[in-house]
Amino acid sequence: MKINTLLQELQPFNAKLVAVSKTKPTDLILQFYNQGHRIFGENRAQEMKEKHEILPKDIQWHMVGHLQTNKVKYIAPFVKLIHSVDSLKLLKEINKQALKNDRVIDVLLEFKIAAEDSKYGLDLPGSREILSSPAYQQLQAVRITGVMGMATFTDDEQQVRKEFQYLKSIFNDLKKQFFTDNPYFKEVSMGMTGDYKIALEEGSTMVRIGTLLFGKRE
Ligand SMILES: *Cc1c(COP(=O)(O)O)cnc(C)c1O
Repeated sequence: MKINTLLQELQPFNAKLVAVSKTKPTDLILQFYNQGHRIFGENRAQEMKEKHEILPKDIQWHMVGHLQTNKVKYIAPFVKLIHSVDSLKLLKEINKQALKNDRVIDVLLEFKIAAEDSKYGLDLPGSREILSSPAYQQLQAVRITGVMGMATFTDDEQQVRKEFQYLKSIFNDLKKQFFTDNPYFKEVSMGMTGDYKIALEEGSTMVRIGTLLFGKRE
């Protein structure tokens, strides 16, 4: 799909587009860049670092995939948003690397909303435990700006819709309990190629789309 067609589709919902470029070569990324797009998503730290080094420096790189603590250092100097934080341990490491780079790093808490058990992510009690902990409250260089989740890979629209509604309700709960007067906590990252329309209807503020823009991955 043409990126402008997709952007037009997102406009009424006021949702941002993360163009997920994982496994795709830099010349394809540049094509979208040259049409004015700046937000790209990757799921491997080293691949993101390599692409960052080659490509224009005003690209906003989003980490959408599972991130191991020992890989945070590769992306800490430049990453714009990490969508996939699912432990206090990872938050602490991001904070440490952010301090080293003299910056604050924005992150989303990833929730497991799918029925499949292969997916990463927190549950609501786990997130509350983190957010209530003194260890988290001491972290000065990470800023939680919302939540992220992946729905079950299924043709059952109702199930996908319910999972997105659940993520939105988690967002609302956490907002109320921990981020009431915090204007930064505002993102609900949900929706991929197969389910972004449902995600938009259910209140997504950020869709992560690869295949629809770049074609199938190997
Ligand atoms: C790969 C990936 C996407 C994009 O998936 P498509 O189906 O190609 O649009 C979105 N989110 C995450 C976390 C991914 O790993």
